[in-house]
Amino acid sequence: MAEATKGLSSKERIKKPRNLMPLHPAELRILSWTEVPIGYSREQAMDEAIRCIQCKKPECVPACPVGIDIPAFIKLVEAGDIAGAAGKIRETNFLPAACGRVCPQDKQCEAVCIVGKKNDPVGIGNLERYVADYEREHKLDRTPVIPPPTGKRVAIIGAGPAGLTCAYELRTRGHEITVFEAFHRGGGVMVYGIPRFRLPLEVIDEDLKLLEDMGVEFVYNMVIGKILTIEDLLEKEGFDAVFIGTGAGLPKMLGIPGENLNGVYSANEYLTRIYLMNANEFPRASTPLYQGKKMAVIGAGNTAMDVLRTGKRLGADVTCYYRRSHEEAPARTEELEHAEQEFIDFKWLSSPVEFIGDERYFVKAIKCEVMRLSEPDESGRRKPLPTGEYFIDEVDTVVFSLGCEVNPVIPSMTPGLRVNKWGVVMVDHTTYHTSKKGVFAGGDVVTGGSTVILAMGQAKQAAGYVHEYLMGQFNYELNISTDPNAPGVQWEGRFAKGKR
Ligand SMILES: Cc1cc2nc3c(=O)[nH]c(=O)nc-3n(C[C@H](O)[C@H](O)[C@H](O)COP(=O)(O)OP(=O)(O)OC[C@H]3O[C@@H](n4cnc5c(N)ncnc54)[C@H](O)[C@@H]3O)c2cc1C
Ligand code: SF4
Repeated sequence: MAEATKGLSSKERIKKPRNLMPLHPAELRILSWTEVPIGYSREQAMDEAIRCIQCKKPECVPACPVGIDIPAFIKLVEAGDIAGAAGKIRETNFLPAACGRVCPQDKQCEAVCIVGKKNDPVGIGNLERYVADYEREHKLDRTPVIPPPTGKRVAIIGAGPAGLTCAYELRTRGHEITVFEAFHRGGGVMVYGIPRFRLPLEVIDEDLKLLEDMGVEFVYNMVIGKILTIEDLLEKEGFDAVFIGTGAGLPKMLGIPGENLNGVYSANEYLTRIYLMNANEFPRASTPLYQGKKMAVIGAGNTAMDVLRTGKRLGADVTCYYRRSHEEAPARTEELEHAEQEFIDFKWLSSPVEFIGDERYFVKAIKCEVMRLSEPDESGRRKPLPTGEYFIDEVDTVVFSLGCEVNPVIPSMTPGLRVNKWGVVMVDHTTYHTSKKGVFAGGDVVTGGSTVILAMGQAKQAAGYVHEYLMGQFNYELNISTDPNAPGVQWEGRFAKGKR
């Protein structure tokens, strides 16, 4: 610990104000794809680290789905040993630079930080980001020791956070890993959904390169279920186990008139065109994008914030339509604040009922019903109720951001793979084994749309059991629901202990 801070009492530490994350000014950032937060300096990071009182029973640790030893890494930051802090985080988290940027810390580790009871919580996410960036910028060696080959082969389907984490965990146990990915590159939603101004590409590319350096093989442009099936992988291609990490990429729509008009997109299509196919550079890129000047975005979750802020950077006037109010908006506080700073309009209590097209079938207006909120019900939630009042706004682009469901390709092509009525793959909630022998699953495919860190936590836990399965030590009574109404895996607020 730095000499000057050694003697500070817990009271003095708690009193210190939080080091706010410096941001690029809104006027400038809407003109570019530059990342919005600038990042802590070394001084700010060390000063923020002083605020942690090193709890004996730190609540922040079990609130992290991958169980980072948060006080230990923060203590190393306070002492100025940033490389040591990086090593500490890496013991449990394979994607710290991404997590430091996109994790909902305000709902997880920071939500339970003891300092938050009297003051703002410790900036755990900002510190994680600082340490991970230091590690990357200083090119610290991150390659783990790979034990001798076990002779076992695992096929991982999907190169998103779940698939990549499972690949890392199993490779570090000596297994041969092949990742099959439908797109031409890895990263999953971190690359084709989350915008560059929140998560730069080089951050993900470094982690993909690490896996390649560890000997993980990637097979791109390979849709499992279409070209090869899971049965092919197990029976013809000689894999000993399969992990499904295919996410939830099937967009939800409202089913209202006008959804098929030109200029109406799902968030997935809109963001994928831009971030995966560079459609905003058409015709330099081969994929086109119809980007109007007046854009309506339906929904107020994190994806909606990403679409709104992307549209703004492409020069549109953008408006968010949401049937509840600001208080109920599901987006992270920080994302909502950043969107509000970026001159985005919000029409709360507005529920779209129709899109109106012109003679060429291009969308030209959105019709909404004005809503009001009920008194809170027993769950404490206020429901939006119709008022019978309507308004019409002129728009030329609409993007639906209402969440996503699991794509049915794999379940429909895999006999014996049980899904619930929402299409979520059913697993045993401890081992993540599916109803098909030797096939495990984790991430959005078993929860429905969720978070990067939860996908990683599940994949880490699943990997422990895949390992036991491969080594002939897997003798668990599986508990996989047969009830089509049963929900997918829910995270219960305690991290999944990666079995080793
Ligand atoms: C716009 C947007 C913003 C988000 N922002 C945040 C955020 O700020 N913070 C946060 O924590 N979470 C955020 N999320 C959610 C988060 O990205 C997901 O929860 C997470 O990526 C899930 O990881 P996954 O590995 O399960 O799936 P994915 O990331 O979806 O990866 C699945 C991969 O599988 C591939 N695949 C699918 N089917 C097949 C197949 N049949 N064969 C081969 N490959 C296949 C896909 O191409 C994809 O690469 C956001 C999501 C979106 C859409
Ligand atoms: S709960 Fe807060 S103060 Fe306590 S160890 Fe975690 S980060 Fe530090």
